Amino acid sequence: MAQTTSSSGATNSASARTDRSSWVVGALSVALLAAIVLLFLKYGANVFSSSRGDGELPTRISAPGSTGDGTGEYADDGQFVSQRYTKPERAPTAEDRSDLKLADIPFDGAAAYAYLKQICDIGPRRSGTPGMRKQQLLLLDHFRKLGARVELQRFQTRHPLDGSIVQLANLIVTWHPDRRERVLLCAHYDTRPYPENDPDPTKRKNDFIGANDGGSGVALLMELGKAMPKHGGRVGVDFVFFDAEELVYEQGNDKRGDYFVGSYWFANEYKRKPPRHRYRAGVLLDMVGDADLQLYQDRYSLSYPAARPIVAEVWKIAAELKVREFIAAKGHLVQDDHTMLNEFGGIPTIDIIDFDYPRPGAESYWHTTKDTPENCSPLSLAKVGWVVHEWLMRTAAQ
Ligand SMILES: [Zn+2]
Repeated sequence: MAQTTSSSGATNSASARTDRSSWVVGALSVALLAAIVLLFLKYGANVFSSSRGDGELPTRISAPGSTGDGTGEYADDGQFVSQRYTKPERAPTAEDRSDLKLADIPFDGAAAYAYLKQICDIGPRRSGTPGMRKQQLLLLDHFRKLGARVELQRFQTRHPLDGSIVQLANLIVTWHPDRRERVLLCAHYDTRPYPENDPDPTKRKNDFIGANDGGSGVALLMELGKAMPKHGGRVGVDFVFFDAEELVYEQGNDKRGDYFVGSYWFANEYKRKPPRHRYRAGVLLDMVGDADLQLYQDRYSLSYPAARPIVAEVWKIAAELKVREFIAAKGHLVQDDHTMLNEFGGIPTIDIIDFDYPRPGAESYWHTTKDTPENCSPLSLAKVGWVVHEWLMRTAAQ
């Protein structure tokens, strides 16, 4: 019995310890719960609002086919290539230059070029700056006057250098919103922070105007918008201008910031909150104003089975129209906004891009102080605008 008593005493004693432990555990639980609530109030709300689409951008995982560090990619044949940009498979020849003049082309290249200059007159249009805001107001006014529905899809990111919040917005122009089956034409409308590729090191912190890289796609769509109210068929058209395509600071191997932030956001929203409409196809316009135009087929566009037929259609139309600057050969492997639409949005999208600015083998104007209206031309905008409009009309008729 002593054993029992002792045992009982021990049991009682253990119970007392258990009571004390329970109290301590209870108090700790309350404290922990309070801490969790406080942490949620501080950070959780951001996470929550982010998941609703109006908060901060979530961290992007690397796109399939990309090493994520910009140092290498996989080509369409699955082979790893060490260069970020591969070369065109052949040099341009005299055959790749058409003898078309502005008067031959039913797309007003002079008007598109005037828009390009108007955009460049704003100055730099970096994401989150007054220059971008001015451009947004210009586009809102322009497309609303033409009768489109225009919306800003707002979101945020962190500034690559100081971590501050940058307010971003994709600008979405909708024609014939009642049409469920739709086509997407897009371009980025932000400009690179600095012309850091300039051959003159003293100019690498100058203003970057981005006439071709940032301006040309926007200008072309501003002109194409005039034809949209009368665009027939059952296929609707959206113009989407992506923000923060290149809010990136790069010096040699030191790269800060992510590319394609706006298109990534747009693609994710489309996938996560499926709208009533469906995008059948997309065409991205980037660097389409180069006065010395050569449009090779982008290898990324060719690498997506659903996008490859669009490349074939566009280059076939160009051949019919005798716009020979659309060269039916492989060009560079260009990671651009279309990769986000294909990989995260499931929207088959090609990139029409003249990456060799001015021409293959020449010193490039890309991300330099030479990316100005003088190095772009009304004729190049007319050629690309004509082909894109013709593709749009044929797609709508299907
Ligand atoms: Zn750029």
